[in-house]
Amino acid sequence: MASASTSSIQRQKYDYFLVLDFEATCDNKSKLDQNEIIEFPVLKISGRTFECESIFHTYVTPTLNPQLTKFCTELTGITQSQVTNQPVLADVLQSFEEWLREENLLNPNVNFIFVTCGDWDLFTMLPSQCTHFNLQRAAYFDRWINIKKSFKRVTGKFANSGMMGMLNDLHIQHQGRHHSGIDDCKNIAAILKALAERGHVFEENRKK
Ligand code: AMP
Ligand code: MG
Ligand code: MG
Repeated sequence: MASASTSSIQRQKYDYFLVLDFEATCDNKSKLDQNEIIEFPVLKISGRTFECESIFHTYVTPTLNPQLTKFCTELTGITQSQVTNQPVLADVLQSFEEWLREENLLNPNVNFIFVTCGDWDLFTMLPSQCTHFNLQRAAYFDRWINIKKSFKRVTGKFANSGMMGMLNDLHIQHQGRHHSGIDDCKNIAAILKALAERGHVFEENRKK
């Protein structure tokens, strides 16, 4: 659907925002020794219109704990059959890079940055899994916007209750299922757009 007025949207420093939200193996009782990414969704959002132009989305086979816990399936909605026989993270990182190339995002004249809800995805999860499996992590994964900090800049409020609280504060209807990675990305993208429509100019604000 065509977007509403973009008149209050300011010129941004980035051509594209890549909204990313991993889901990972988990359990409520015993802490897993190493969580593994099981869903890898990324939305390519235009820095002019804040509309989604393309989607990278795959489930990922976990190898240390190949069986999802009941807790994990109930939390994320991700079933065993959705992750079995999917690519492993090493392959996904390669296909993601191919997608970036196809989308012209590796062109040095095109400026993009990731957007996540919190710092867990790119500060904790991806680095720890890459270290564990001795995988190279591309330099572009080191730049991101934590939307909770952007939300604080715009509204003055801490995003204490996370994505759901920000949606609520901004009067945005939640879409889909909470803790589905692709649905979380769509909701984070809606928050991103709402902050842009309030005249916000996004800056890198990752945890260092
Ligand atoms: P989220 O992006 O908030 O859906 O969470 C990302 C990942 O963090 C999930 O896939 C889980 O691995 C873990 N996680 C989130 N919430 C919980 C929770 N309440 N208990 C255990 N793990 C969680
Ligand atoms: Mg998340
Ligand atoms: Mg999520």
